[in-house]
Amino acid sequence: MSSAPLENPANTPADQPVLDWTHRLTQLGTSFFTTLQPTPVAAPRWAARNEALRHELGWPVQLFDEDHLQAFAGNATMVGSQPLATVYSGHQFGQWAGQLGDGRAIWLGEAASTQGPQEIQLKGAGRTPYSRGGDGRAVLRSSIREYLCSEAMHGLDIPTTRALCLVASPEPVRRETLETAAVVARVAPSFLRFGHFEHFSAQGDTDSLRALADHALAHHLPECMERATLWQGNVYAALLDVVQERTARLLALWQAVGFCHGVMNTDNMSLLGLTIDYGPFQFMDGFDPGHVCNHSDHQGRYAYGRQPNVAYWNLYCLAQALAPLIDDHDMTLEVLEGYKSQFPRFLGDAMRAKLGLTGALAPESEREADWTLVEDVMQLMAAEKVDFTLFWRQLSHAVVQQSQASAVTDAAWRSVTDLVLDRPRLLAWLARYTARTGQTHFSAMGDQMLRTNPKFVLRNHLAEIAIRQAQAGDFSEIETLHMLLKSPFDEHPGYEAHAALPPDWAGQLEISCSS
Ligand code: AMP
Ligand code: MG
Repeated sequence: MSSAPLENPANTPADQPVLDWTHRLTQLGTSFFTTLQPTPVAAPRWAARNEALRHELGWPVQLFDEDHLQAFAGNATMVGSQPLATVYSGHQFGQWAGQLGDGRAIWLGEAASTQGPQEIQLKGAGRTPYSRGGDGRAVLRSSIREYLCSEAMHGLDIPTTRALCLVASPEPVRRETLETAAVVARVAPSFLRFGHFEHFSAQGDTDSLRALADHALAHHLPECMERATLWQGNVYAALLDVVQERTARLLALWQAVGFCHGVMNTDNMSLLGLTIDYGPFQFMDGFDPGHVCNHSDHQGRYAYGRQPNVAYWNLYCLAQALAPLIDDHDMTLEVLEGYKSQFPRFLGDAMRAKLGLTGALAPESEREADWTLVEDVMQLMAAEKVDFTLFWRQLSHAVVQQSQASAVTDAAWRSVTDLVLDRPRLLAWLARYTARTGQTHFSAMGDQMLRTNPKFVLRNHLAEIAIRQAQAGDFSEIETLHMLLKSPFDEHPGYEAHAALPPDWAGQLEISCSS
């Protein structure tokens, strides 16, 4: 049944598409991709359906019926889709790695949505001509992590590819141990990576490189046309500029929420500045700038504290790839320089917001003094590996509480100071923090902070519990986590355990690169 059109029991005739497809990428020509069919999997089952996203995109309910289960498993082709795998290369762990993918992601096309055209990919849907030695599959474990983290990031207002649904199959997949297969359907306006550009540039194929850049400019980053006025009309310099700015913003948001990506290779960097390719990622528990979440990353190249510099390194690779188009060495370097001022500015804004210092409370003149406040509290947290998420959330609650008291007291900071051993040091910092704004602003600040500092993040152990249950056939914890993580700033009474410190066994969890 691999290429049979879907039967459609609802109102749409069987030969009519359920989604309204376009295929602008295919206009680029066959040097960019190979058309192919996904490889069917045995006995597919829904593990998760993202009703919220389906609704957000204005896609019909039929998308999640039993016929579409077959389509999202890769066992049938949706009418109007045109499956293909694109080709890209990239730098992995600082080395040129040549051609890399798409080794297991199959692109179905672009579907019209209320948010504009959205590309849909099936990750884990079988081998492609770019699979190298791989089996083209993804395991249930890593697919659950990708599904949940995509939606957690979206809930945190961090740009990301989205996850539409997750299909599980009993088909065995060999990794370190024998696991089972799954397919995630992911959605984004574009899945273009830095590596797509590196691929054609490395081959000296400037015509294809230009065609790809023009495609991105026309369809995905139209703001570059206006930005080009800053760069003597050079639209390719503007492209690099927009990408560096989006990347700087993304990195600031990651840092501010304690997110480690784990594999920031250039093929895992989105041209649109989205979080993409969820592998051994982690939301830090105890704060440690040197934290490495990928156990295969022996050098700590992708440690939390290094992520911003790695992003710059990756942008440098993109700049080199675009150099034949920009055709102006000095201008290219000048564009890249922008990151060095943009990133600290975005990070400063994000960290000040965590302290409630926004709007009228965040005047430009206070920027440096506020940054000292941020640095000092981060040092204090690092010294004791204070739980990152709990600290900011408790601080937010404590600020609300202080706002309701007649005067600021040490006792009312208790929920925050209980998180540390060195209470005097934290109290001294809290006194400086209080002096910065005065108690009068605490009420508004506290409300703002509770909307900035999440209660729920996808901690490793939470994902692990959902994975173990799913491996035993029970997918309900995926649903629970999705419900919490899509609105992580809400209190969700009754789910305190999901917001608590990790259990002891979480420290022993090793998240490998294998997926
Ligand atoms: P990653 O670092 O996980 O993004 O993987 C690097 C590249 O390896 C990806 O772009 C994929 O194309 C490819 N890849 C990873 N796993 C597999 C697999 N199981 N089968 C085929 N290709 C794979
Ligand atoms: Mg990848």
